[in-house]
Amino acid sequence: MSRRPKRSGEPSDPSPGSGGPGVTPDDAAAVIPQAIDFQSGLEAKVLVLNRAFAAVRVVSARRAFVLLARDVAEVIDPTGGAYTNYDLTTWTELSELKYEFEPDAHDWVRTVRIDIAVPKIIRLIGYDKLPAQGVKLNRRNLFARDRNRCQYCGQLFPTSELSIDHVRPRTQGGPDTWENLVCACVRCNSKKGGRTPEQARMRLISKPKQPRRNPLISVRLGHEKYSSWKAFLDDAYWSVELK
Ligand SMILES: [Zn+2]
Repeated sequence: MSRRPKRSGEPSDPSPGSGGPGVTPDDAAAVIPQAIDFQSGLEAKVLVLNRAFAAVRVVSARRAFVLLARDVAEVIDPTGGAYTNYDLTTWTELSELKYEFEPDAHDWVRTVRIDIAVPKIIRLIGYDKLPAQGVKLNRRNLFARDRNRCQYCGQLFPTSELSIDHVRPRTQGGPDTWENLVCACVRCNSKKGGRTPEQARMRLISKPKQPRRNPLISVRLGHEKYSSWKAFLDDAYWSVELK
């Protein structure tokens, strides 16, 4: 087993709370004691709640462990229908039992001494704010909204083969909005050219709308692995940004 060289110095952003900028993934190595072998478990996703148990965002397990190691967050464990909170130390101890009794129920991070279960949910102890409203309009969210389906021919494509189409072209004053942007395959996009669907005699398979919640989260909610998030995501106001 190879060891990562020990780092000196403090994390660059010691302030608690927002999980704001200033923390790089490498900070995890500096903060988590002996967490040397980062395995795939660190790419698992963790739902972050604020102090009032409202969903704030989704982070990687790597980021979650940084927050836990700084004591600005605690684990919320939904096992058994109750929500129990743990600090990192007790969660690490509990992980030994979980590893024995429910190894398949968790992603795992291997450290030198022990395997730690990746929590599904953490709660920021000192953070009261709610996330900003709305879902960020970007390429990733747009593709997720359209589920990687070309909105003209209706076929599924890998992200690399999809482009973003302005329904009403920019040259005709079409804006960059959820209502005017759709996924299109290369073929449909070039067939449509700089025209509206009517001008090109093409039809959208659905009317493009702004999603009510982050579409990437909606996709994840379909996985059983993240089913424990649902209880925190049913509020109408809810929306989070994926980092
Ligand atoms: Zn197409």
